[in-house]
Amino acid sequence: MSIPDLKGVIIGGPGPTKNDFEKGDYIHYTLRDKIIATMDTAYVGEQGVEEVMERAPKILRHVRYVKEKRIVQDFLYEIGHDTGLATYGEEEVKRCLKSGAVKTLLLSEALSVVRVMVKCTACDYVEEETMREQEVLGFEQSLSGQPCPNCKATSLSLVEAKGVIDELAELAEQTGTDVEVISVETEEGQMLKNSFGGVAATLRFKPPS
Ligand SMILES: [Zn+2]
Repeated sequence: MSIPDLKGVIIGGPGPTKNDFEKGDYIHYTLRDKIIATMDTAYVGEQGVEEVMERAPKILRHVRYVKEKRIVQDFLYEIGHDTGLATYGEEEVKRCLKSGAVKTLLLSEALSVVRVMVKCTACDYVEEETMREQEVLGFEQSLSGQPCPNCKATSLSLVEAKGVIDELAELAEQTGTDVEVISVETEEGQMLKNSFGGVAATLRFKPPS
């Protein structure tokens, strides 16, 4: 028996019966592997199920954090042991993505940087800028009175604003790479953001340099 979309099982109930149920020979092993929590409830039956449902988001969040910590720790292990099977920084990660070397792409959820393209409609002048998401609107407004550095016409406009997360995730998708967006709720998540610029990767093989 296997349910591919089943992420986890939470067992709940008042009293010790649930523990006997969990430890006894009642559950198929493929389901047992999916048990993520056992929970005390005040009620049985439908009300008990409601209780479990109410508390499930908190439990799932915790499960998510545990997973995130493990993912970042795997990355830190490779870095710490200098195995060459991990890298970080946008440019380097992008290069590894393109060569298909990335096993898991780690992106900090705090990465709210976007890339915009400025184009002149009078000539073919183009420039690229990277900025924080909240700065885009102000930047776009500042363009209207500005002369084009190339032809001096005031016809600069913003043509594209793409999130760095989206861009890297798209690239990862094209090469069949796992993407993990890591929150900043854990110590490891903070490290990813602060020490590694929010972009990191574990590698399948050392990329050609
Ligand atoms: Zn121009």
